[in-house]
Amino acid sequence: HAKAAGRNTYQMFTKEMHTAARQRLAIENSLRSAIANDEFVLHYQPQVEPVSGRLVGLEALVRWQNPEDGLVFPDSFIPVAEETGMILEIGRQVFEKACRQAARWREAGLPLVRIAVNLSARQLRQPDLPDMLAAIMKECGADPEMIELEVTESMTMERPVESIRILGALKSMGIGLAIDDFGTGYSSLSYLKLFPVDKLKIDRSFVKDIEVDPDDAAIASATIAMAHTLGKKVVAEGVETQTQLDFLVQHGCDIIQGYFYSKPLSAEDAEQYLVQRAGNG
Ligand code: C2E
Ligand code: MG
Ligand code: MG
Ligand code: MG
Repeated sequence: HAKAAGRNTYQMFTKEMHTAARQRLAIENSLRSAIANDEFVLHYQPQVEPVSGRLVGLEALVRWQNPEDGLVFPDSFIPVAEETGMILEIGRQVFEKACRQAARWREAGLPLVRIAVNLSARQLRQPDLPDMLAAIMKECGADPEMIELEVTESMTMERPVESIRILGALKSMGIGLAIDDFGTGYSSLSYLKLFPVDKLKIDRSFVKDIEVDPDDAAIASATIAMAHTLGKKVVAEGVETQTQLDFLVQHGCDIIQGYFYSKPLSAEDAEQYLVQRAGNG
């Protein structure tokens, strides 16, 4: 009896694995055509200075406009793109789109805020990354002052010495730098001091229960204090409620990003936000 059950489980397992492999292959193939057919679009999430309510940045978040499935979110295709290396081409397209948008908004006379672009681990390890990004910015008519790059904490800690060198090169070009998902990796504080970044982004997982979990509250407030000591600004991600906002403001958090202010917006809606909420007014 047990033997039969074991065999059935085994058969089911291999069948599921087979289906998963087929699904993955299907994603790979449609990603390849998405790259060729320019199916990626960027949405932009406002980053707000809470004290003044002023818009100070926009994070570019990629979406895949799939002809069959509609809008596909990054968590369901970035990992496959990472594994296969297609992320390099997707990342290039994303950066180019962000640069074109920044240049267009400047042409239109809109207030200048940095557009933050997420980098993947593979992109960070491309030896010619700074040159490549410089070439794209030049081609699009964008300046480094319009751009910020986000790298995750775990990505930078994988090869800290190499990361410090590349980040240093990007920073000296005038590009802004932020460490994303901060608190979820294993930063050595001695390396953190050496990373030439302007901002730390507190991960959403700490913000979520900030009002009820004393550990999360302690991590968030300690991160803010430490970042300020190191001369860096702090962005809190995933802020949804007034109570979360109040806690973060009370502890000196510089910039807020989350549904409390706005979900990620289409380029047109982001432009409206830019018109109404940026600048000195
Ligand atoms: P991330 O860079 O940490 O981006 C923040 C994510 O949190 C976004 O999800 C955003 O929509 C979501 N978010 C923001 N505020 C809130 C909130 O108040 N509540 C909740 N529940 N969620 C909030 P999204 O757009 O699905 O992106 C997920 C991840 O995919 C990003 O996390 C980033 O790691 C990756 N990603 C997005 N665009 C790119 C890209 O162009 N290149 C690369 N390499 N990765 C990207
Ligand atoms: Mg990010
Ligand atoms: Mg994040
Ligand atoms: Mg994330």
